[in-house]
Amino acid sequence: MKSVVTFVGAGPGASDLITVRGLKALEGADAVLYAGSLVDPALLQYCSSECICLDSAGMSLEEQIAFMCSHTKNGRRVVRLHTGDPSLYGATNEQIRLLKEQGIASCIVPGVSSVFGAAAALGCELTNPGICQSVVLTRMPGRTPMPEQEDSAAFARTGATLVFFLSASRMEELAQDLMARGGLAPDTPAAVVYRATWPDERVVRGSLATISNMAKEAGITRQALVLVGRALEEGDSVSHLYASEFSHGYRNHLASEDFEGRCALYAFGSKGCERAMDIASALALPVTVYMPSRHYDAVRHEHKGKCFYEVIPVEGVSRSLQENWNNVDAHIVIGAAGIAVRSIAPLIQNKTCDPAVIVCPERESVVIPLLAGPLGGANRLARRIARILGGIALTPTATDSAPIPAFY
Ligand code: SAH
Repeated sequence: MKSVVTFVGAGPGASDLITVRGLKALEGADAVLYAGSLVDPALLQYCSSECICLDSAGMSLEEQIAFMCSHTKNGRRVVRLHTGDPSLYGATNEQIRLLKEQGIASCIVPGVSSVFGAAAALGCELTNPGICQSVVLTRMPGRTPMPEQEDSAAFARTGATLVFFLSASRMEELAQDLMARGGLAPDTPAAVVYRATWPDERVVRGSLATISNMAKEAGITRQALVLVGRALEEGDSVSHLYASEFSHGYRNHLASEDFEGRCALYAFGSKGCERAMDIASALALPVTVYMPSRHYDAVRHEHKGKCFYEVIPVEGVSRSLQENWNNVDAHIVIGAAGIAVRSIAPLIQNKTCDPAVIVCPERESVVIPLLAGPLGGANRLARRIARILGGIALTPTATDSAPIPAFY
C-alpha cells in the first residue's frame, strides 16, 4: 500500500465546521499532528482512543516530518490537521515536498477558511452586486516578505474587497497605507474579526479612519482578519455601520456595560501599571490611577501626551484605596484579590451604599467584580473592562444572570 499523509482543513474554529470528509479522516486516523494555536482540541474527540495526537506548535519542521514519516512507515494512518483551509498560509508545500523525498505521498482535504467564518460573522457577502465582484486574500509583509507587485495599495485601487491575514498587529500602518497610497476614502468600511466561529469570537466594525483604534481598544492584535471594502457596508446608512459596537461570545452582547461615575485604579507592579493605563485610557470615564512612585516615571514617559486622566504616584497604594473609599464610585484593583479584600474589609458596610470594587490580575484577562455587583454597577463595569482587555468578566450574582432587580 502506498504511504500517504492526509492534510485536512480543520475549519476556522468551531469543531462542527470541519467537512464530513475531514471528519472521517480524523475518525480513521492512528496519528494526528495538529496546529494547536488555531485548531480546536474538541476536534480530537473524533479520533479513536488509541490515536496519538500531537500539537505541532512547538515543533520544528524537521520534527514534524519525522513524526509523520515514522508513523506512516509503520503502516499507520496519519492526518496533518491545519487551521481553516490548508492552502492559505498553511506552509504545507514544504511539508509535502519533504514527505515526497521520503517516498510519502500527500492528499489534501479542503476546509472552511477563516475568511468565510469572518464573512459569516459579519453577515455579509464579500462580493456585493453593483459594488464589487472580487475578493483579494492577502497579508502585510512580516517575517515572510511580500512580492513587490503584491502591494496592498495596488490591490486597494482595484476596489475589490480586501481580506488581510496575519496582519492584525499592524492595523494602524495598514489603514494609513490604504488611505495614503491606496486612495481609499477614510470612510471606507473596515472590520476586524477575531477568532471567527470560536466561542470568544469578536467583531469590530468601523471605517479605515477608526478601525485601528477600535481594534486597539478591544485589545485585538492576533488571530484576527482585517476586512476592508464597500461590500461590508450595511444597509442604507454608513453612519449606522460606524456606530455599531462589537459583540463577543463570552458575554451576551445585550448585557449592559453602563457605568457612570468616578473610578480609581490601583496598580502595584510594573505590568499592573501598564495595564491600569490601558484600562484608564479606554474606559471613557473620569479616572484617577494610583501607582507606586517607583513606576510612575517610566509609565508616564511611555504614555506621554496620550494621557487624559490623572495619574498619582503614592507610597502606599492600598492606603490610597482606603482613603478614597467614599470619594469615588468604583475602585479597580489591578493585582491579587487578596490585596483588595484585605484593604476593603474594614470599610464594607452594605450593598446599598458600598462603592463598586473590581479586581483584575496583572496578566490574565479575567475581571472579577468583588463588591456591589448589581447595585453599585460593578458587574456592568467589569464587563466593560473585560471587553477592553479582550477577556471575560466573572459576574456570578444571580440577579445579573436573570433579568430581575437585586434584593436589598
Ligand atoms: N489556513 C488558515 C489561515 C492560516 S494563517 C485559513 O484558511 O483560515 C493564520 C491567520 O489566519 C491568523 O493570523 C489570522 O489572520 C487568520 N485566522 C485563522 N483563523 C482565524 C479565525 N478563526 N478568525 C480570524 N482569523 C483567523
